[in-house]
Amino acid sequence: MYRTHNCGELRSSDIGSEVTLSGWVATNRDLGGMTFIDLRDRYGITQLTCNMESNAELCEQARGLGREYVIQVQGVVRERSSKNAQRATGDIEIELSSLSVLNASETPPFTIEDETDGGDEIRMRYRYLDLRRSPVQSQIIFRSRVAQALRKHLSSQDFVEIETPFLIRSTPEGARDFVVPSRLNPGQFYALPQSPQTFKQLLMVSGFDKYFQIVKCFRDEDLRADRQPEFTQLDCEMSFVTQEQVLQTFEGLVRSVWKDILEVDLPAFPRMSYDDAMSQYGIDKPDIRFDMKIKDLTDLSQGHGFPVFDSAECVLGIAAPGYADKMSNKDLKKLTEWVQRPQIGAKGLVYVKLSDDGTIKSSVGKFYTEDQLRGWADHMGAVKGDLLLILCGEEEKTQKQLGQLRLEMGDRLGLRDESIFAPLWVVDFPLLEWDEESNRFHAMHHPFTSPKQEDQARMLTGDHETMKALRADAYDMVINGVEIGGGSIRIHDRKLQERNFELLGFTDEEAKDQFGFLMGAFEYGAPPHGGIALGFDRLCAIMQGQNSIRDFIAFPKNNQGRDVMIDAPSPLDQEQLTELNLDVTAESESI
Ligand code: ASP
Repeated sequence: MYRTHNCGELRSSDIGSEVTLSGWVATNRDLGGMTFIDLRDRYGITQLTCNMESNAELCEQARGLGREYVIQVQGVVRERSSKNAQRATGDIEIELSSLSVLNASETPPFTIEDETDGGDEIRMRYRYLDLRRSPVQSQIIFRSRVAQALRKHLSSQDFVEIETPFLIRSTPEGARDFVVPSRLNPGQFYALPQSPQTFKQLLMVSGFDKYFQIVKCFRDEDLRADRQPEFTQLDCEMSFVTQEQVLQTFEGLVRSVWKDILEVDLPAFPRMSYDDAMSQYGIDKPDIRFDMKIKDLTDLSQGHGFPVFDSAECVLGIAAPGYADKMSNKDLKKLTEWVQRPQIGAKGLVYVKLSDDGTIKSSVGKFYTEDQLRGWADHMGAVKGDLLLILCGEEEKTQKQLGQLRLEMGDRLGLRDESIFAPLWVVDFPLLEWDEESNRFHAMHHPFTSPKQEDQARMLTGDHETMKALRADAYDMVINGVEIGGGSIRIHDRKLQERNFELLGFTDEEAKDQFGFLMGAFEYGAPPHGGIALGFDRLCAIMQGQNSIRDFIAFPKNNQGRDVMIDAPSPLDQEQLTELNLDVTAESESI
């Protein structure tokens, strides 16, 4: 037996017991004839002691143990004289009677402690050591608990867990595919799934009724902090359901997981239309932990001789509560520069300060009377002490810019409290999105998303403007300004599906070539169906109040898409290339 107990288990009630423990040497200190070792495993840390006077030989052996040696020890549980309240095992220690080294260790390249001295790069290179650190390990264990809670809940609702293949054809989520050459089919390639979308729809045609899978998805996109080239979705699909039933089902799932794991009762998820989200929050994933909604000042502000406003399509503003007297002119100048950065793209920023002393000051004060400015404040529901921040320009752009500014002000005012969860459903998305650059429609969700029932007839016959106005049975789940997942009711009628492909610019040939199998399946009794996919890594991160999903992935890639531990991607040798009928023309550039 390697151990009778783990390193996080022993308590005062075990005092006097003979125990055997195994684990890693976290620290090893000598203090006046006593040797103290912290022995670590996944469950915790237990202090081992050895007294030079009573057992010199054993003490010598203990002293020789380096950090991260794997050892097995025997001893008796004793009460500790100086207790450590920070540690679950802090009331006891083990007085050693024997020890053996199971495996020696090189000195690790960084300290394996909660606060490590290792930088990001080195920790990723030695990720297996980083994962030995308790805070890192605990996120992975958290992830496992969430996965189990999801499985438990879905199974209790009759969902069947089904795996779908990884070596497939391109799927329609709109990113680039990762491709895999086929040796047996020279010159042909598989694509790795961007999601199991088409397969889960086929499973509904097969009659499985309720499907789920915790599944890897692969998208070759430019990476950001919250993106990985391979990530995990909780992917689900249901038959004979309306949008309302899908929303109820997955709201129920998320609430049950929050309750199970965090012991938090989430509020009922409010519903917000896409249009309201854009006009009130300037974003399709609003953070509703705080108010500060966008208000339209166009009518109140135009026609008073301020040419910038007068010539703008719209004038929109937000009121930052209690912020008027916190911003000096210099701060306001900096904030103006902030909105002018290319990422935001505003031309300028107008402010109105409603100071605590009752005075009003504005960067456009010479164009408007105090009464007029007070009229704006009233319209926005602003009160003494608030700072109005106003942008103008083309409607959609201005909404988005103000949406960014709203989040920034939310951060500055400390209104984005990580311990609060504010979920909602965003619904009624447009079906299609017109792209000026490519002069064509894109699917806002994906090409299998159904237009709303009342829009279906118009979709078959309507003109360009009608197409722009079509609404979809599509929905996103948003928590704290993060899109946790999205889905839709699917088109299950071949005609409608063909029309959608046509609107999206597929020729008949292209549609048949790429999705003929699905359209074919729709000829054999496809039930009405719909589903959703939740970003599993992201779900875990948000539950823990974290921004980055990387901490919840055991072996993540860096932001160049590289795994620096195994050094992937890497070139293939010539033999392998020949076998795969591949000819590499570009010099490989290591990043
Ligand atoms: N396949 C979709 C996605 O990955 C989700 C869905 O429509 O169910 O976003």
